[in-house]
Amino acid sequence: METKTDIKSLNFDELSQYIESIGEKNFRAKQLYEWMHIHLARDYESMTNISKDLRSMLSQNTEYTSLKIADMLKSAIDGTRKYLFKLSDGNCVESVLMRYKHGISVCISSQVGCKMGCRFCASTIDGWVRNLTPAEMLDQIYSISYDTGERVSNVVVMGTGEPLDNYDNLVKFIRMLTDEHGLNISERNVTVSTCGLIPKINDLAKEDLNITLALSLHASTQAKRVKIMPIANTYEITDVVRAIKDYERATGRRITYEYTLIKGVNDTDEDADELIRLLGTKSVHINLIPVNPINERKYKASSKSSVLKFKKKLEKNAINVTIRREMGRDIDGACGQLRRKHIN
Ligand code: SAH
Repeated sequence: METKTDIKSLNFDELSQYIESIGEKNFRAKQLYEWMHIHLARDYESMTNISKDLRSMLSQNTEYTSLKIADMLKSAIDGTRKYLFKLSDGNCVESVLMRYKHGISVCISSQVGCKMGCRFCASTIDGWVRNLTPAEMLDQIYSISYDTGERVSNVVVMGTGEPLDNYDNLVKFIRMLTDEHGLNISERNVTVSTCGLIPKINDLAKEDLNITLALSLHASTQAKRVKIMPIANTYEITDVVRAIKDYERATGRRITYEYTLIKGVNDTDEDADELIRLLGTKSVHINLIPVNPINERKYKASSKSSVLKFKKKLEKNAINVTIRREMGRDIDGACGQLRRKHIN
């Protein structure tokens, strides 16, 4: 069986070539691209200025990615929404919409499941299933924007999956998301979070993208990191930090270190000291996240007082510290838990 063209994963040039290859006039590419990536059409039927013949030809020969909302939880406190999407092959992924003063932020997944195995994370428990296509990453945002009727201004790739483990699709997704022919989201409003795949961090530095990179550090020493993040067996903590500093130098973009505080595991005074030694204090930004406990593991969040103590210590050393604001507390459950509930 011939595989169908994944039309929503084609960038503008590729779509133009495809349209030419089926003998259609070039302006059709622009119309189609706008229907898909600006008007966020959910299907070909709604593309009213495209002829019926072309629409039916396209539905036969292409795959039109249009994620179905399988479940949605809405927070009564702050309007946060958690979406569970069904993909065309029956797999599910989660995305989250968060409302901030500066606009709407959507957190998307980059893979079905994850192979990184971080001990505190729910997304990794059932392992890795497959990578998401550029269209499946884009459509999490499109589907949410279509559902709420609101414009999305920020995108964070911090849902299920390791984005740099799906590198080519991720980069294509970012270029399409920030393309002037599409939603035209500013590169500066896109954040990618990684557990630290060094070769891919080096590649990303050469892409000339003004995105924000975040490193999930979560520990201050190799011995401690390896206990909670198996990826540390492959990439040593000091090598990762060096790669990050190189990335900052090469791109001129400051990265954020994410540090999940786990009670008795990485939240002591000594941990704060080690962290200062590891990162230095020159223009370092650390985002502290009290761990969101998952049922399958014994980890508990640090107490409010130890979080504040940890923060103070870092700040005394001129490190810029933020504490991740809790969103949608009433629809709680860490990343990946809605999907897990659905699978089980
Ligand atoms: N794989 C990427 C992106 C997905 S995870 C990464 O590692 O960065 C997004 C962020 O959520 C990471 O910082 C991750 O460590 C954190 N995270 C995962 N499970 C968590 C939990 N139970 N509580 C708090 N943060 C968690």
